[in-house]
Amino acid sequence: MNKVPHRSGFVSIIGKPNAGKSTLLNQLLGRKLVITTPTAQTTRHRIFGIDSSENHQIVYSDTPGLIRPRYKLQERMMGSISQSLEDADLILLVIAVDESYPEDQIVKLAEKTEIPKILVLNKMDAVSEEKLFKRMQEMAAKVDFVEAIPISALNGHNVEKLKELTLNYIPEGPAYFDKEQVSDRPERFFVAEMIREKIFLLMRQELPYSTEVVVESFDEDEEQIRIEATIHVTTKQHKGMVIGKGAKNLKKIGTMARKDIEQFLANSVYLNLYVKVSEGWKDSDFHLRGFGYQ
Ligand code: GDP
Ligand code: MG
Repeated sequence: MNKVPHRSGFVSIIGKPNAGKSTLLNQLLGRKLVITTPTAQTTRHRIFGIDSSENHQIVYSDTPGLIRPRYKLQERMMGSISQSLEDADLILLVIAVDESYPEDQIVKLAEKTEIPKILVLNKMDAVSEEKLFKRMQEMAAKVDFVEAIPISALNGHNVEKLKELTLNYIPEGPAYFDKEQVSDRPERFFVAEMIREKIFLLMRQELPYSTEVVVESFDEDEEQIRIEATIHVTTKQHKGMVIGKGAKNLKKIGTMARKDIEQFLANSVYLNLYVKVSEGWKDSDFHLRGFGYQ
């Protein structure tokens, strides 16, 4: 019997905000790891999502959407994209076909790198075949792709196919991470993200962009996991909004987040949330470092 060689490598998922990068990563992993919302700029960090089998290990990087930075938080977000391009074996360039926006930033970035790129046309469920084909031609004329594939990250259409294509570009080599490991980030990172997701889903306008969540303590006993987390906002007014009348909003955020966290940790969870005003954290090196933005 021929032994199949083991393959392992890094794949960076790149694209504009809201293209469906995080939804795609969750589909590729077959589980909800990273948070996804209808609001742009939900993802702020580079996050590894690791897909392992007996014969392969693909380390995907979910990244923040490509934007032109306006404040320090966004500068750090864009820095994490550059970083995830440096060590990649393959780039998945994700474009949402139901939207048209200037692609010059994506094209420029793609031209700068020699790493093979697969064009992933996402949200095929939302447009006609004609439009899909037109978009594929447009993009293929601008960038040198090794493959192009339409998918729906939402319903999973063609995602297995994309995985097969991806494997062709993964070099032979031993696994980088333990085969059981699903991410490079600790559990408390994902717990904070799940709370942040609920704020994005429940609160309006600019508030979520000014919000950061930090898990303060994480204590496991026989019965449950007790988690305390602080929601940092930039103004007193935002603090009032997050808490809501009779703490209505904060309770809702807590209840929704707890359900997700319980599923994620496969354990019963007691979640305690605090809200704190940390003025100007989005432009403060001190705060950003404390919140884990390198
Ligand atoms: P990201 O900013 O690129 O990470 O995008 P997200 O994964 O957070 O998704 C942004 C929004 O697009 C969410 O509301 C998703 O449900 C939606 N979305 C993602 N993939 C698809 C898709 O294939 N079809 C449709 N119709 N919506 C999608
Ligand atoms: Mg995302």
